[in-house]
Amino acid sequence: MAKQLYNPPSPLETRVLSKRFGLEGSETLDVYLANDGFKAFLKAKEMTPEAIIEEVKTSALRGRGGAGFPTGLKWSFVPRTSPKPRVLVVNADESEPGCCKDRLLIEYDPHQLIEGILIASLAVDAHVGYVYVRGEYRYLVEKMDRAIEEAYARGYLGDNVAGTGWKFDLHTHSGAGAYECGEETALLDSLEGKRGVPRMKPPFPAVAGAWGMPTLLNNVETFSAIPPIIRDGGAAFAALGTPKNGGTRLMCLSGHVNKPGVYEIPLGFPMMKAINELGGGMRNGKKLKAVVPGGSSCPLLKADECDIPMDYDTLAKVGSMLGAGGMVVLDEDTDMVKFALRIMRFYQHESCGWCIPCREGTTWLRKILQRFSDGHGRREDISLIGELSKNMLGRTFCALGDAAAMPTISIVEKFTEDFEKYLVAKEAVAV
Ligand code: SF4
Repeated sequence: MAKQLYNPPSPLETRVLSKRFGLEGSETLDVYLANDGFKAFLKAKEMTPEAIIEEVKTSALRGRGGAGFPTGLKWSFVPRTSPKPRVLVVNADESEPGCCKDRLLIEYDPHQLIEGILIASLAVDAHVGYVYVRGEYRYLVEKMDRAIEEAYARGYLGDNVAGTGWKFDLHTHSGAGAYECGEETALLDSLEGKRGVPRMKPPFPAVAGAWGMPTLLNNVETFSAIPPIIRDGGAAFAALGTPKNGGTRLMCLSGHVNKPGVYEIPLGFPMMKAINELGGGMRNGKKLKAVVPGGSSCPLLKADECDIPMDYDTLAKVGSMLGAGGMVVLDEDTDMVKFALRIMRFYQHESCGWCIPCREGTTWLRKILQRFSDGHGRREDISLIGELSKNMLGRTFCALGDAAAMPTISIVEKFTEDFEKYLVAKEAVAV
């Protein structure tokens, strides 16, 4: 019997990572083994570490956590022959507003993630790993722990993984609910039991990461893509997407569409097709106003900018980002002042306060946007919002400052008329 998911498979999807999601007991090792589970690990065990990394490079897989850095290249930075032991870390601190796909990968297919971690461990010669789970996802820690326990009990973790003699130990670690800990070095500090604030880079985690050890850190979806890449070949995965944008990704479609949900689509999938077909079109027949293409930190696109394929390079060309896959669709009734305020409230709350442009910038932007939203905005506030945001760009210690500034700049520049409406209403009251 098929398991009830909140979005049943759509014929428009290409299910690679999520192909087991609809199976009863998909989270169990038995179902995983009966459906291609651990074939890739056994294949990888016969390959050299260099060949594994080459296969990942061939796949054109790019990190699914937001930055989109080529995964194979990242793996090649980890010094396999270092006298220090290597550490693997899984970033399951999924906190970007609009994103909720890593939790499904852990909930419905944790053994795929474990297999991906094990293959990575072969590539960088690591024997210990940590799954760092977002604080608010506490229930997922239990699910991941259950899967790890099952894998140990059946010999797929521990001293003799799948009877191959490979040794690997895996642990979970719960965050405490800070968006900031999605940044890789803040995550590492938090993992070490410290306050989660970003580290100076260099050195990068590949050289000096967890406890100063060379560390390979990737997102849940990135590790989960590894078993199909090794099993079916990097070229087959790459062919699903577009050049330099290999494979499929899980897209979280939300907002004013008829069928919000998490859909697995190839890189390069047309944005309008995602809205009109996967998403079932605009809710209540309204017109499209804007799209947040990859999560709240991405610059917004106006309706007339959305006729594009969704891949990292195309989104960069139009001045935005594919981000972590959180696509939010906004209809013509959306008040962009209130939308900008909602985003800024989040970033101000999540700013760790370490650097001034972010701490003060998000605080003042929130105050100005609040003033505008309350009907007390001034004409000069419109340019002030843009200038303040631009002054934050590239001047903060980690990417949170940019994440707060980029959507705000796009909103104030592309939807100035929404701000003007508040001024007209204010003037009407004054008269
Ligand atoms: Fe902290 Fe913000 Fe600075 Fe990042 S940019 S270190 S979150 S204050």
